[in-house]
Formats: sequence, structure tokens, C-alpha cells
Amino acid sequence: MNRLLRLSLPLIFAGTLGHAAEPVQPPVKNPWYQAAQARLQQLKGDTPMRGKARNVILFIGDGMSVSTITAARIFQGQQQGKPGENNRLAFENLPWTALSRTFNTNAQVPDSAGTATAMLTGVKTRIGVIGVDESVTRGDCAASKKGRVPTLMERAELAGFATGVVTTTRITHATPAATYAHSADRNWEVDSEMPAQAREQGCVDIARQLVEFPYGDGLDVILGGGRRNFLPSDTPDPEKGKGRRADGRNLILEWQQGQGRRQYVWNEKQFAALKPDASVQVLGLFNPSHLQFEADRAQDPAGEPSLAEMTAFAIEQLEARSRKTGKGYVLLVEGGRIDHASHAGNAYRALTDTVAFSDAVAEAMKRTSAEDTLLIVTADHGHTLTISGYPKRGNPILGLVRNPENNELVMAADGKPYATLSYANGPGAAIHNPRQTLHEPDMLEKDFHQPAHVPLRSETHDGSDVAIYARGPNAWLFHGALNQQVIYHIVADSLF
Ligand SMILES: [Zn+2]
Repeated sequence: MNRLLRLSLPLIFAGTLGHAAEPVQPPVKNPWYQAAQARLQQLKGDTPMRGKARNVILFIGDGMSVSTITAARIFQGQQQGKPGENNRLAFENLPWTALSRTFNTNAQVPDSAGTATAMLTGVKTRIGVIGVDESVTRGDCAASKKGRVPTLMERAELAGFATGVVTTTRITHATPAATYAHSADRNWEVDSEMPAQAREQGCVDIARQLVEFPYGDGLDVILGGGRRNFLPSDTPDPEKGKGRRADGRNLILEWQQGQGRRQYVWNEKQFAALKPDASVQVLGLFNPSHLQFEADRAQDPAGEPSLAEMTAFAIEQLEARSRKTGKGYVLLVEGGRIDHASHAGNAYRALTDTVAFSDAVAEAMKRTSAEDTLLIVTADHGHTLTISGYPKRGNPILGLVRNPENNELVMAADGKPYATLSYANGPGAAIHNPRQTLHEPDMLEKDFHQPAHVPLRSETHDGSDVAIYARGPNAWLFHGALNQQVIYHIVADSLF
């Protein structure tokens, strides 16, 4: 028995034996009590909506752990001059929630390829593979042909839905790739990255699979980065560097020459000039590799749209096509670089990208109706970000822990202050070892690396469950602790 518990026992007995009970009067004037009463009434109004959805929009915040959501909510609130803890990101207003268990079939802590495959094909699979089941060992081209699993977008195109994919990563990166590709290795984004044996066995790189997508009329809206994987190695990229294709093919040109009317854009100005047009398919590739982090977007050489702007356009464009066909649409939106910032141990960029992701969800909430659109927001996996210590309310989320009672810095056992945010591992361990005295103004800068425990060049994912938020037809099915691949089954049940 610990000391605290032993001390408290006499008090408990005193309470239960000797004294008359106080009259029970709920604190009805307390603002927290009142806010919870209002919330209770709202919760009672949330009734399950059964039946089919006309449209489905699946938002994936890559690496957006629950701790990342909490920190980003505080960060956004504080940027608006509030304490932040009671702020809500846009998707925190969605009525239905569940937990998603993210492990891969062979990995306790998963990667984005295996998790995206779970959400987009309905089966869990191995770490590192895309659009194939767990029979396929990573890198085994021959096995991948037998282990293919149909994707949500393939089924949607065959059923006549309009389809779209929007991301801030290369469009060939693991999460977006899982909508259209089948690959024994997520790194086979371009032919020059593939082993000769895989090419000889007839495996095709992920960029080519996007352009040669054989179902329906192909994906209707494709917005992201990764131009270099579509251009030959001797062709200069309009912003930076050259293409990476070894086969000499210009896949952007090939896509433009495909069936139907097709429009390609690669910079912010061209993007801003796009108008929703039911008769056109749109490909936008805004960077040779990933798009910029939101915190750096203004410095992009040729300019690039925000995730919210891309989401808004994609919805309007898909809606235009849907009105023409009478069939709805399916859209995947990925905030893909929340993950990259955390891998770098850089909370500032992870949080600004999470806020940008929330802004994209807000666009979708504004532009769609809960009556006919199933809107889902989740993450593929977490990161090791922790929010720790006992900092006072309203303390800068990127700052040092301060005592809630006297506002003074709290010192660790080594006599030095410590940060509220830290990572379990990553580059922050080497940077802050041995522990120096942290200066808060530096910590609020966008390039600051949070302290970490285990030194690794790249901070890792974490294996905790992630959250799912939803509204619309069938959204109520998102409740309880779900295995991640159930997301696909709820979506498919809502559409087909
Ligand atoms: Zn990652």
C-alpha cells in the first residue's frame, strides 16, 4: 500500500460512519455543468441514420495520433488568442466516433502502406505492401500478382461513381497509392526505384499504375505532388530538378492523351483558374516531390494550393460530374505531411499541418450535407508525440511546463525546465543530449525539434489506437473499438 492511500483511509471511514449526508444540490450555475447539460441535450438528438450514402469522403490525417489532435486543438486555439484546451478542430464536431486498431498483420506498430490497404481494400496486410493481402512478402513481385485485392476506388469506378484523390504527399506515396495501385513494395513509386528482377517479372511502378488505371474512366480528380515520378529522367521539372523515369515515358502527356477531356495543372495560378466542369477530368501535380508543409507553403517557387483549397475544388468538381451522371462520388483526402513533420521530431509543422487538415475537413463539412454524404475522418497510425508534465491552463503548447498555481517553470530532477511536448524517439534525442537549458523563444520557432528519448534519425510511428470521427448515412456504425479494415466495410456497405 502506498503512503497516500494509507493516509486517506481514515478519512473515508469518517465520511461513511459518523456524519449526516449533505443535501444534494447539483451546481446548476457552474458554467462547466451548464455546458455539459447543453452537450447532453445535443447528444440525445444524435440519431442513427441508416441506408445508403450518395457520396463518401474519407479523410486520412497521416500519423495523426490522438495526442497530435489534442496538441493541434490547443495550438489552433492559442493562435486565436484563447487558452486552447477547450477549442475544437473542425472534425471534433462530428457526431459519431470509434477507435481504430492499426496493427499490420506482421507488425505491432504499422506503416502507412499496410494501414491504407486495410482502409481501402477491407483486409489487414503486411507492413510496406500496397493493395495486396498478407500472402505477399514485401518485395515479392510474383506473389503480388496472386495476392491482389480490389480497392474501393476500383469498385467505385466500376459502379459508375465519380472518384477523386487529394493529398499533400506525392500522389504515388503509400496512402494515395492504396486507392489505385497493387505493389509488393510501397517504394516502387517509379520504375527507376524498382529492382530489375521485379520489372522483368512484369511488375509495374505505382506512377504507371495511376495513369493506366483500367477501371471505369479512371480517377476523375487527382491532386497532389510527385511530378518527378511521371517525367523521363532527361526531362527538366518546371520547378526543380529532373524526372526520374528510366523508361523514357512522359506519363503526364500520356494521361492527357487518354480517353475523354483531360486537364493538367502544375502551379497555383493554373489551379486557381480551374472551374468545376462535369465533362473534364483533372490532374494537378504541384511539386516534383511532396507539397510543402503548410508552414512553408508561401515560399513555394511556383505556388501551390492549400489542402483546403484542393478539397473544395475536388468536391465541386466531383459534384458537377455526379449531377451529370446521377451517381454520387467517392473522395479520399490525405493530410499526408503531419506524419513527415513528426518523423523529423518537429511538432510545429506537425501541428500546423493538422490545423490545415482540419481546415480541409471544414470545407467538406460546409460543402456537403449530412443527409447524403458519409464523411469520415481518421488517421492511419499514430506518432510518439506526448503531452506531459502538469502545465497550467493556457500554457504555450510548444513551450516549457509551468506550475498551474504560481506560473513558475517546473524543474526536472536535473534542475532544468522541460518541454510539454516530446517524442519517445527521433532526432530530438541527439539534439538535446546532454540536456541543455531550453529557452522558450527558440521552442516556439517553426524549426525547433522537440526533445526525445531514444536517438533515431527518424522518429517512428506509434502503435496506439487512432480515432475515427464521422457524420452522415451509416456514420453511427462507427462506434466501439474497431479493427482498421472495418472502415472499408462500412464505406462499401454505404455505397454498393
Ligand atoms: Zn510515417
